[in-house]
Amino acid sequence: MARLNDNFLKLKAGYLFPEIARRVKAFSDANPEAAKNIIRCGIGDVTEPLPAACREAMHRAIDELGTREQFHGYGPEQGYEFLRQAIVDHQFAGLGIAADEIFISDGSKCDTGNILDIFGPGNTIAITDPVYPVYVDTNVMAGNTGDADASGAYAGLVYLPCNAANQFVPAIPEGKADLIYLCYPNNPTGATATREQLTAWVAYAREHGAIILYDAAYEAFIRDPEIPRSIFEIEGAHECAMEFRSFSKIAGFTGVRCAYTIIPKALTGTLADGSRQAVHPLWSRRHSTKFNGASYPVQRGAEAVFSDAGKAEVKTLIDHYMGNAALLREACAQAGLPVFGGVNAPYVWVGCPAGVTSWGMFDKMLEQANVVITPGAGFGAAGEGYFRISAFNSRANVEEVCRRIGALL
Ligand SMILES: *Cc1c(COP(=O)(O)O)cnc(C)c1O
Repeated sequence: MARLNDNFLKLKAGYLFPEIARRVKAFSDANPEAAKNIIRCGIGDVTEPLPAACREAMHRAIDELGTREQFHGYGPEQGYEFLRQAIVDHQFAGLGIAADEIFISDGSKCDTGNILDIFGPGNTIAITDPVYPVYVDTNVMAGNTGDADASGAYAGLVYLPCNAANQFVPAIPEGKADLIYLCYPNNPTGATATREQLTAWVAYAREHGAIILYDAAYEAFIRDPEIPRSIFEIEGAHECAMEFRSFSKIAGFTGVRCAYTIIPKALTGTLADGSRQAVHPLWSRRHSTKFNGASYPVQRGAEAVFSDAGKAEVKTLIDHYMGNAALLREACAQAGLPVFGGVNAPYVWVGCPAGVTSWGMFDKMLEQANVVITPGAGFGAAGEGYFRISAFNSRANVEEVCRRIGALL
């Protein structure tokens, strides 16, 4: 008899975005005229075209594949040296990261999920609330949790509440945590973590032999020079953290697919017999066994992000989205709502008007302003009372959304 993985039946997720789609469709079917005006600020996908430097590099790479002399078949599973070295030179200069500590992949979503392959049973998993749902669901699938309760919280997970009082950066837990997921700049709250806060987390991880899984997908949106862009800016992090980065948000690669994980050779975990073991060889083995490398043209396109032309285009892209974020922040503040994020991150996190739940606000915005936002409760119980507006949009759409928010509230 073929036994299935029962853990999949514990999953609550697939709940947020399908539920948003269901409500948008029901509204559109009932109001076909209004449906034409709908502006979507819900899903965190980029909207602006791929930089020309990246497109040109990919065109050239594809032409190379058309010649016998320059054809590339299977590449190195960990990624081409040219890309790994470019990442070190342009993103980690002076931070003590070597090219062979970087693993190129086809996405951070996959990386943050797949990483659980190398961890054993019995780890206590700490995640922030609200949170990027992938961290939770992959732990449910891996059997690292019990069942979900009525609020959607899974037994066995340590939830780290993030709220206005702690500026959406969680307090260090009193008890034990073995794997700690941190994402800064944060999706969904747009919060950033200071050097002091990250230093405290690194100290906790070192003291408890824990590993920090640091998701820096939005690093490129940090404007404040005081805010760390990498966990490896914190002393001692090389022994207790790994970092996930992606080309998706920095350069519009959500449809192209390229990301990377940094695992310092100094990072260790514990084996069943209590001895210390480096993490790097385990991930290297896992990656080369189950993955055959990101495509050559895509890696050439990613490399071009770090060319002079690519850097200039990326700056224009980020400036565009952050200009949107500033407009959205202002419109919500003008409407009298508490506003967070949107300064060093492309998400604006907004408190709902008094007495309105986050799904209530979703319906109100959809029905009365024809704007799709994301209800905070969809990211975890602590997200109740908030909603997320994505700055990934055209300027014209954002200006119209601001106008409608002004008219509605
Ligand atoms: C968008 C995003 C990523 C990037 O995912 P890809 O699979 O590389 O596109 C990673 N983490 C978070 C929190 C994100 O929002």
